[in-house]
Amino acid sequence: GPFVVAVDGPAGSGKSSVSKAAAAKLGFAFLDTGAAYRALTWFATQRGIDVTDAGAVIDAIADFDYRIDTEPGRQRVFVGETDVTGAIRDPEVSARVSAVARIAEVRLRLNEIFRGILTGDGHDGIVAEGRDITTVVAPDAPARILLTASPEVRAARRAGELDGHSVAEVAAQLHARDHADLQVVDFMTAADGVTTVDSTDLNFDETVDAVIDV
Ligand code: C5P
Repeated sequence: GPFVVAVDGPAGSGKSSVSKAAAAKLGFAFLDTGAAYRALTWFATQRGIDVTDAGAVIDAIADFDYRIDTEPGRQRVFVGETDVTGAIRDPEVSARVSAVARIAEVRLRLNEIFRGILTGDGHDGIVAEGRDITTVVAPDAPARILLTASPEVRAARRAGELDGHSVAEVAAQLHARDHADLQVVDFMTAADGVTTVDSTDLNFDETVDAVIDV
């Protein structure tokens, strides 16, 4: 099957942009798994579902028609015919996504989708990033990386991406989301065989190269 590179890490660690750039350099496909949790959150909210109602969210999965491009240069996300690439980055989605991600049945169903993409043909290799790729989704991947950065650096980088939000505000949001997500998956500790890449003192290109070295 395809060569799998698994990358985990906290919010704002640069996982997505770094993994995408590494995939492009390697000629590999790219999978952002957080996009599926975000898209399901968007879909449930669109249907008027309270995302803390696990039963209602699980029922909605039956109609959740999810598609994502795995071309590193062309990451479009669709739910049915709707392009939700931009909508899933809304702060409202970010604020609700952890409630969806903590539902065990949701994780099982999304993991099936992810494994189907990872083992699919059409690519020689694929870089997949998220929170539990190194431990749950692809624990046997030949390359497994934990991408970290200090909380201050993560907040500063994310604030730079989002217009009009102070670093303090973004830091509080990242902290809240990590705190909620850590109840479900420990993505701050490198599991056995996982290589930590700390990007705190690295620039973007250096981080991409560190990932490719692994
Ligand atoms: O990576 P991103 O920050 O876009 O992920 C959005 C959310 O999806 C995370 O805050 C987490 O709740 C969930 N997630 C997850 N497991 C993954 C990827 C994302 O629980 N593998």
